[in-house]
Amino acid sequence: MKSVKRLDEPQSLKQNAAVWTQELLNEIARVGNYSKVSDSFKGKYNQPDVKNELAKMYNNRCCYCEGALGEQTYGRVEHLKPKSLPQFYDLTFVWENLHWSCEICNTNKGKKWNSKFPILDPTKDNIDDHIRLNVESGEYEIVNGSRRGETTIEHTQMNRCKLVEARRKVAFRIKKDFFRKDEKDRKKYLEETLADVEEFRYPCVVMETCNLLEQLLEC
Ligand SMILES: [Zn+2]
Repeated sequence: MKSVKRLDEPQSLKQNAAVWTQELLNEIARVGNYSKVSDSFKGKYNQPDVKNELAKMYNNRCCYCEGALGEQTYGRVEHLKPKSLPQFYDLTFVWENLHWSCEICNTNKGKKWNSKFPILDPTKDNIDDHIRLNVESGEYEIVNGSRRGETTIEHTQMNRCKLVEARRKVAFRIKKDFFRKDEKDRKKYLEETLADVEEFRYPCVVMETCNLLEQLLEC
């Protein structure tokens, strides 16, 4: 998981968010129960320009686990503040609340919310201040006892077995290639790997592994 810069608000939201929000709130009041409100009111954020901008913003990866989207799984519009909680009904179409995630993280998080120590926002928080990837174990760890980091790992189940396994594989591959190189070529290998970091699965794993190996070079 890493910090990203939010792109500009897509046109469809700029033009319609206020009206859609009012229509949704009216409908919730009319039927008296959010779960009975039709998707034609709740799901209007699913616009092509919204999805395109989110995919671009996150380089078509899940904002939490960095899994690649659009190959085996569709990307999902993720509401950081859950849209099905009454206090956040009015954030359903607010651009600053929208992110891009895989189905698993999206489902894991569901409507979990911790108001005291909220989940980290990749567009607002410096992720590295709260959680850090341990490439040896493949798990995310909390930095300086961050309670928000703890919420983030818990709500998304960021240390689920399959992910930990996948991260360890990526790290293993890089380490293996690194040690196969002649010593004189290792620095260059790390530089080239880092330059192409977005081409790999789980770029954060690649970055952390390269940083670790770079320290070895300096020893
Ligand atoms: Zn994910």
